[in-house]
Amino acid sequence: MTYEEMLAEVSALGEKPYRAKQLFAWVYKRGVDDIGAMTDVSLALRERMRDIYGIRGIRLIDAKTAPDGTRKFLSELEDGNRIESVLIPETARLTLCVSTQAGCALGCRFCMTGAGGFMRNLRLSEMTGQVFAAGTPLAEGERITNVVLMGMGEPLANYDNVIRFTGILTDGNGFGFSHNKVTVSTAGLVPAIKRFGEESNCALAVSLNATTDEVRDRIMPINKKYPIKGLIAALRAYPHAGKKHVTIEYVVLRDVNDSAEDARRLAFLLRSIPCKVNLIPFNEFQGAAFKSPDNQRVSAMSRILQDAGYTVIVRSSKGLEIQAACGQLRGWREE
Ligand code: SF4
Repeated sequence: MTYEEMLAEVSALGEKPYRAKQLFAWVYKRGVDDIGAMTDVSLALRERMRDIYGIRGIRLIDAKTAPDGTRKFLSELEDGNRIESVLIPETARLTLCVSTQAGCALGCRFCMTGAGGFMRNLRLSEMTGQVFAAGTPLAEGERITNVVLMGMGEPLANYDNVIRFTGILTDGNGFGFSHNKVTVSTAGLVPAIKRFGEESNCALAVSLNATTDEVRDRIMPINKKYPIKGLIAALRAYPHAGKKHVTIEYVVLRDVNDSAEDARRLAFLLRSIPCKVNLIPFNEFQGAAFKSPDNQRVSAMSRILQDAGYTVIVRSSKGLEIQAACGQLRGWREE
């Protein structure tokens, strides 16, 4: 439940509103999953609540650590579906990548999750559960600094639960992240981008990956529904004021979207949109239809974009050895 939902429950029980604040902090700030342990709540109320409510989460069943320190968590949901989350250490950051769906319906051709098909949207408790699952084994002094909703699934296709989840992530009595430390990604669901811009202060990342409809249709079937022109128009109309950061994600595929011409088109498409660009060299996996790009081509793209005034980050692949890198999550145990 979100804070507002707890408030409504508490008032239905005839309790004062401050109870909701207490309960919310017990669950999300302190990570307590036993109502009986919430000691500043009267025993009678705790017993009453235990008859009505339960605290749900996910069951962590496997964790792996790559040589670069990236950790991947495999969790099982109540219905047996499996999801993955990834913890990515960088110099000054520890970023948790959260899944929002079991599988994904969008079928991007470069993505293992998409290849596995769609099972269902994740519940709120299955998203907050990933934060707890990844946070439990952290060493002393370690702290998750950023959360990105870029794991399995299209976050904006699970819109309501994602908004509830980001609300808890950024609530001072919840997980307490600042808005610009929480990033929601999308493959380009245009109507949902508009809504998200109006309803959330969290950062947005858009997976663009191509500069022509011909190429984007081929690698991201969602482009047939929401072609590049409409997507760019939505980003141009996006409320960029304040802390609303937009990142353009661009997975670089060898001989598909890695030319100097692509970089120039990208610079032109994004003109007047306040954004930074992440170039992500494709991570090859077994049976993949694409190849990793040549480093020199990626550097050349980066230079062209920088010369055009963009901030560009070439994302090094993290967690490749444990299939935890971008596009490699699929939610079942590797044998
Ligand atoms: S890249 Fe994202 S949106 Fe595309 S299939 Fe994979 S999980 Fe779904």
